[in-house]
Amino acid sequence: MAPQLDAYFKQVEASSEDFIERLRKAVAIPSVSAMDEHRPDVVKMGQWLASELKNLGAEVELRPLGKQPHKEYLDLPPVVIGRYGNDKKKRTILVYGHYDVQPALMEDGWSTKPFELSVDEKGRMYGRGSTDDKGPVLGWLNVIEAHQKAGVGFPVNLLMCFEGMEEYGSEGLDDFINEEAKKYFKDADAVCISDNYWLGTEKPCLTYGLRGVNYYSIEISGPGQDLHSGVFGGTTHEPMTDLTKVLGTLVDTDGTILIKGIKDFVAPLTDEEKSLYGDIAFTMDNLYESLGSQTGIFPDKERTLMGRWRYPSLSIHGIEGAFSAPGAKTVIPAKVTGKFSIRTVPNMEIDPVNELVIKHVQDAFSKLNSKNTCKVWCQHAGKWWVASPKHWNFTAAGKAVEHVWGVKPDLTREGGSIPVTLTFEQATGKNVLLLPMGSSTDAAHSINEKLDRRNYIEGTKLLGAYLHYVAEEPMEG
Ligand SMILES: [Zn+2]
Repeated sequence: MAPQLDAYFKQVEASSEDFIERLRKAVAIPSVSAMDEHRPDVVKMGQWLASELKNLGAEVELRPLGKQPHKEYLDLPPVVIGRYGNDKKKRTILVYGHYDVQPALMEDGWSTKPFELSVDEKGRMYGRGSTDDKGPVLGWLNVIEAHQKAGVGFPVNLLMCFEGMEEYGSEGLDDFINEEAKKYFKDADAVCISDNYWLGTEKPCLTYGLRGVNYYSIEISGPGQDLHSGVFGGTTHEPMTDLTKVLGTLVDTDGTILIKGIKDFVAPLTDEEKSLYGDIAFTMDNLYESLGSQTGIFPDKERTLMGRWRYPSLSIHGIEGAFSAPGAKTVIPAKVTGKFSIRTVPNMEIDPVNELVIKHVQDAFSKLNSKNTCKVWCQHAGKWWVASPKHWNFTAAGKAVEHVWGVKPDLTREGGSIPVTLTFEQATGKNVLLLPMGSSTDAAHSINEKLDRRNYIEGTKLLGAYLHYVAEEPMEG
């Protein structure tokens, strides 16, 4: 039976100006985690969030995470954890978000002051953190408030985990989650993260997969110092020549990874999975618009989305030590380091992929018969994540989307990584759902970041509706 949501929805409408004010206050605190001088603001933002939650009657704790690695003079901002409701007969949903933001300066090209929420005539609410991730975090607070004001019973117990270092690699959070999974978070029946975006602007989505990434460096060195090609060209093995040849063996122009054995790891496409792609609201023009060109590899949407989400890709990012300035410098660089990464998918495990890559590079280099030296290593790696979109957590969210937006959501994956997703899944052993609020045009991390009023208010309805549907889903699995 569909839950009765009218009273709740009406209240969200009635409170929408208050909710926007709440976002305005949050955006006004420049909680930039990457900048030392803003650390007090990040802490202030955590405290503000905690006090808002307390005012709503939630249990709240600010948990310290110790000193910041490599910057021991800085304390990490606290994790804000909270609980709203403790009824053993209800399900418990653990939600995650972050209250820190990316840096933002007027001179980067913002049209409005980044830390003042400014709402234009189309309802676009500009401000750093509006969509990433203050809007979604406050969405959960709005849900609690609207239930209270409308006198509607809260359908689940809510556990909350809001961190202040997400935009700086979530320092300290993995250990914290692993530690608390069997303590503070032990009652969680499922996890919901609202920290990504719709694929487009009109159709909501539920996200069930993310690619991982293995990042590599190849260092080739020989001469003791940089040389002049007029003097030494033709007399020595040149590191740059070797490196470009080795890099050239990694990937084809159509994106095919040329490292032997990689594609054997890739899980085959099933008919069921394939069927999810047809309905997705995405066109080749969407791709061309975001690319700013028509240089797509595949002619069709399905294969394009699969290329982004469910197949691995290899990208060459740059060469450290190479001459890259304008002009015509005749240097022979003595040491160059090529950087490339592989976006990984099921079932590419980190170590076996590393073994294949390192062997491939060493073999390719040795075939050159060069007297230079080649080193290759994996700089960092994070694993992919895929959840079952058939789990009740997804079913509930799907019904909530239909109720609020009147359409079935797209089931999407993402080509990038949100490492905390996998941490929550592994630490709690529970299903994790990514339930985005904002749309593809929100410009998270960029200038003129915004959240549409519609996405914020309907998004608040959605988060609440999701909890009601969660309470009604039969529980198996
Ligand atoms: Zn974010």
